[in-house]
Order: sequence, then C-alpha cells, then structure tokens
Amino acid sequence: MTKVHHSLTNIALLLIALSACLPVLADTTDAKPDGIQPIVLMIGVDGLRADTLQRYNVVNLQSMAKVGVFAKMIPAMPTKTFTNFYSLATGLHPKHHGMISNTPYDRELKRRFNSLTDQSDPLWWQGEPIWITAEKQGLITATYFWLGSEVAFDGVRPTYWKPYDQEKDYAQRIEEVLQWLSLPISKRPRLVTLYFSGVDTAAHQFGVGSEQEKEAVIKIDQHLGDLLSGLDEMGLRQQVNIIIVSDHGMINLSDDKVINLDPHLDLSALEVPNWSKNRNVVFAPFLNVHADKEQVDLLYEKLSGLHPNMRVLKRGSFGRNYHFDHPQREPDLMLLADPGWSIYASRNNAKPLPIKETGRDKATHGYDNQHPSMQAIFVGSGPAFKHDLVVKPFKNIDLYSLLACILEIQPAKTDGNVNNVSTFLTKTCA
Ligand code: AMP
Ligand code: ZN
Ligand code: ZN
Repeated sequence: MTKVHHSLTNIALLLIALSACLPVLADTTDAKPDGIQPIVLMIGVDGLRADTLQRYNVVNLQSMAKVGVFAKMIPAMPTKTFTNFYSLATGLHPKHHGMISNTPYDRELKRRFNSLTDQSDPLWWQGEPIWITAEKQGLITATYFWLGSEVAFDGVRPTYWKPYDQEKDYAQRIEEVLQWLSLPISKRPRLVTLYFSGVDTAAHQFGVGSEQEKEAVIKIDQHLGDLLSGLDEMGLRQQVNIIIVSDHGMINLSDDKVINLDPHLDLSALEVPNWSKNRNVVFAPFLNVHADKEQVDLLYEKLSGLHPNMRVLKRGSFGRNYHFDHPQREPDLMLLADPGWSIYASRNNAKPLPIKETGRDKATHGYDNQHPSMQAIFVGSGPAFKHDLVVKPFKNIDLYSLLACILEIQPAKTDGNVNNVSTFLTKTCA
C-alpha cells in the first residue's frame, strides 16, 4: 500500500501533544474477544467536485481511491449544502427530511429556517441521522461538525459533538479527531464525522480552476495526509474505514448568462426564502417562491417561456428526480436556471451595479442534480472496502445504508437501498 505523508514534523509535534494529554494511545487492552469492531471516519468536503482527482495532484485522496473505492455521487435536489449533507446523514430524500434547501420555508410554522438559530431545533430536522441510529444501538459516536449534528432526537445526541464553528483551525480539527480515536475502547467513538468548508468558499469566490480553489483542495489533501500519518502512528490505519464525501459539485458563472426578472415582476413582494432579507439584489441558480394560488397562477403565466434557460416549475409538477415535495415546505413555484446561468432580481428597485462590480460569486451550485457539474465525490478506503475499484455513480441517499452495513447496525427506514452499494464492500449486508 502506498503511504503518502504530508509533514512528518507536524505529525511528530501532534503526537507529542497527544501523548501529553492522553496516557495511552490507541489502547486496545479492553478489546472485545470477538475481534476488532469496525470504525468509520466520514469526512465531508463541501463543494469538492467529482473530477477533482483528475484535475489536481491530490496525492492522499488519489492513494485512498487507489487502495479503496471511488465513485461519483449524485446529489439530492436542490444541489445545496444543507439539503445534501442531511441526505447523506439520513439516507432520505429532502421531502422526507425537511431540509429542502439551505433556507426552507414552512407553511405550517409560517417562517423560514434561520441558519443561526435553528441548527438544533428538531422541528426542522426530520428523519434519523446515522449517528442517532448508532447511539440508539449502543455505539459511541462523535461529530466534528455535520449538518443536523447539533439536534437532540428524542433526547439522543452524538456522545461527542460540537456547535459549528466555520473558523475552527483545520489542523486542530484533525488533532481532536485523532484524540477521539485514541481514547480507550470503552470511550472511543465507532463513528466520527468531520467537515471542511474551505473548498466551497474558495470556489464560490474565485471560481472552479482558480489558483485559490486549487490551493484550498491541496490544503484539504495535506490535512488528510496528516490524518493518515496520525492513524499510522497510533496503529489504527488498518482498522479505520475512511470515507470522503462531498455534498455537490460546482460550476463557473458567466456575466453573459444572467436572466433578469426585474422588467417582468417585483419578486421582492413575495416570500422567497433563499433570497436573504439583507440583500437588495440576488443572483441565484434557483428561486423558491411561496405565494397564494392566485399569485402563483399569475406568475406562472408571466414567467413560463420567458427565457430559454429558465424553467418555471409549479408545486406538484417538479421533476421525478427532485423529491423535494415536502408536505409543508415544497415551494409553490421554483424558478430554476440552467447550469452556469443566474437568475437576477432586485428589491425596492435597487439599481444593480454593472455585474463585474457586484462582487457576486464566480461559481455556484444548486442546479439540476443530474448535471455532471453538480456531481459529488465518494472515496471509501479501509478494511470494509474492496481494493482499487471504480464503481458507477450512485445516489447520496444510499450512503446511510453503506454506513449502517459497515457499522453492523440495524438501519432505520430510508429512501436508499444497500443493494446499490453492497458491491463496494468486503462484507455482505444486502
Ligand atoms: P452553500 O451556501 O450551500 O454554499 O453553503 C455552504 C456553507 O454552509 C458553508 O460556508 C458552511 O459554513 C455552511 N455550513 C456547513 N456546515 C454547517 C453547519 N453544520 N452549520 C452551519 N453552517 C454550516
Ligand atoms: Zn456545499
Ligand atoms: Zn456552496
């Protein structure tokens, strides 16, 4: 097996720090006599495109794919962060887990999700994330950030969890995950999640293929190298199954691909949950609109066929692959641009700056989940995975079943199917 290490000095320092605060590294003395229990470390890299391994020299990711299983993964619709990390965690379509966008609006609650205050409110987060299934069956779990991980489900939480902190130093995250994995077996988590936002942020700001996106990707790869070295040093490398996933892809935007709605209607008079109230203008891959039937019919008539690169979809008539027809949260109308296009609207007749001066994103996601640019990535390596295998794209709602299979726990009811992923594994679960 090829070992690719980033910085041995860093690792040496890390291990000195670890040994100072923990008396025993990777204590295996209280191991069960029936053998080694499976451990999963699931790492979410926001916005990591499916073609990253071909585009950049990411030696650690490439070596993990080589010794394990690689696949492109089809995200849920819309291809946004909250929707997809929560589908990965629950194995559910958005219509069953409720996060039908980053900012769902609930007709019954009569309010939109607030990403600052509603992260731990179970009203918004439906279904059962894998860490809850595991905890209910007596496994210890730990979440170093994941959407939905701050919620207590019937009083059950991950044993170790943290409120989200985007600024948290990446090396510190790795170090703390290694500390969790070096706990004595009676305290050691069997499922650990870890999350990084940097690639998504860089790609939005500077574009896919920019020097900054490349740097952000390489930085993640180097941290993965540190993690692998740490596991090696602890003697756990052969025991831990490492899964790298992303939530969606990313596509560059273009100044001449803008669909201007201002001449046609005043969107600011309607409930458009994915248009922040603090923003006068919006450039978005889609807009969800909530309105009464009369307004919806009027809008539908006005906007249908308005632009060849914008679809106008009414509640009840979304694509079969969308599955976000949640009873209280499905939008009444969705305006959906083609990949690379932006829908533009302004509030209170705000005069748009020339597009070059708006500071808007250079790249984004949120487009149709079947488009290749929106595909996410899956890399799985470790004792549960077959070697050197590239499998065909699969839906991210199947990941929960894969995790349950590796962890040998009884899955909750999901929209996924373990048969779609069982060929990745050395064990049988189907
Ligand atoms: P998007 O607008 O879809 O690109 O969302 C990406 C943003 O989601 C990132 O900038 C993250 O900071 C944010 N995010 C990711 N995970 C969490 C979380 N667990 N809690 C709050 N925000 C998150
Ligand atoms: Zn994302
Ligand atoms: Zn993003």
